Amino acid sequence: MRWLKIGRDFVYPEYKPKWPRNSPYSLDKVLLDIEVDFENRSLKGKAINRLTVLRKIDVIEFDAVDMSIEKVLLNNSNIDYDYDGNVLKIFLPKEADRGEKLEVDIEYYVEKPKMGLWFIPIDSDEPAIQVWTQGEPEDNRYWIPTYDYPDNKTLLEISITCPSWAKVFSNGVLVDKRMLNGKTVWKYRLDNAIPTYLIAFAAGKFSIIEEKYRNILLQYVVPEGRERDVKRSFSKTSQMIKFFEEFTGVEYPYPKYTQICLSEYGGGMENASITFLTDYTLHDEKAHMDFRSEPLVSHELSHQWFGDLVTCLDWSHLWLNESFATLMAALWRRHDLGENEFIYNLLNMLDSYLSEYSSRYSRPIVMRIYGDPEEMFDAHSYPKGALILWTLMSIIGEECFRNA
Ligand SMILES: [Zn+2]
Repeated sequence: MRWLKIGRDFVYPEYKPKWPRNSPYSLDKVLLDIEVDFENRSLKGKAINRLTVLRKIDVIEFDAVDMSIEKVLLNNSNIDYDYDGNVLKIFLPKEADRGEKLEVDIEYYVEKPKMGLWFIPIDSDEPAIQVWTQGEPEDNRYWIPTYDYPDNKTLLEISITCPSWAKVFSNGVLVDKRMLNGKTVWKYRLDNAIPTYLIAFAAGKFSIIEEKYRNILLQYVVPEGRERDVKRSFSKTSQMIKFFEEFTGVEYPYPKYTQICLSEYGGGMENASITFLTDYTLHDEKAHMDFRSEPLVSHELSHQWFGDLVTCLDWSHLWLNESFATLMAALWRRHDLGENEFIYNLLNMLDSYLSEYSSRYSRPIVMRIYGDPEEMFDAHSYPKGALILWTLMSIIGEECFRNA
């Protein structure tokens, strides 16, 4: 017999507890104006961060990694700042009081970023053919100088200038598209507040297929030539939205839902109103006998409620995002394919968790001591969390669980 201790093998000696940030300001709106250079794999941008001061401050700090900061303005005037490659500190001329509104404009430049903004093909110096972002957990700070932490929600306007051969997608509604100096400017706006890690855009050669669910625009965006595979992967999207709306009693929160299949992308990411998916989820008729996209599609879609509309305060609570999404995908499976498939799904979750537990480590499900937030994306947060929620639902009853 082998004894396995709780809290075993996850924490290294150098790990320190991480507590929520408790920012002295709230970020109310981000206005981004960026131009993407596919040739040089770079980005030139202007980020306007609109803030409300929550308690007296004389310094504003933004997350900004490995960028060149070219100009900083506070309420349209030049201002002193300091930048160490990780944090941009802006020194206010006089202390700002609680309730005061501030606007900070930052002009910046990013070249060959290590994270956050990916030029495809990755690991190449060739001109890029596709660009996409990956913000979660803390990587949007590689291409946006802003407050990059999940405990704040902000409105967003984003203008993206790209070569005209590229189609560009981002959060919210496309409010303007126009030519400028031989390039195309795409402007998107989201009037729902979201944490900055859910800000995203993708650009490249794509085909778009659209439909509507009530007044919500549904977009399926795939590489050119893959239009015929859309139905196989995404035809149940409307039914899933309806199921999640009925289960939660909460309407789908955003004006549109785009699902975009990207090259060299792993898995899926629930960016608010625009989910990114690996293009491997597209498959032909023959593969369809053994493979389905619905588990991935339903998982990412349910995050629009659990993770996007409601967000964890910090990464120690990541399980709230992932366990709900994992359980909701399983409940969709029960609704779609029946009880046996659901039970089989639960058993697979148990296997997955026990395999991590027995061969790697165990940890409390809410964990303050970790090295990098990435470490929280494990079988404790996904299947174990989902099984705990399912146990809770079984004890209190499905109706009480749904009402709660
Ligand atoms: Zn997820």
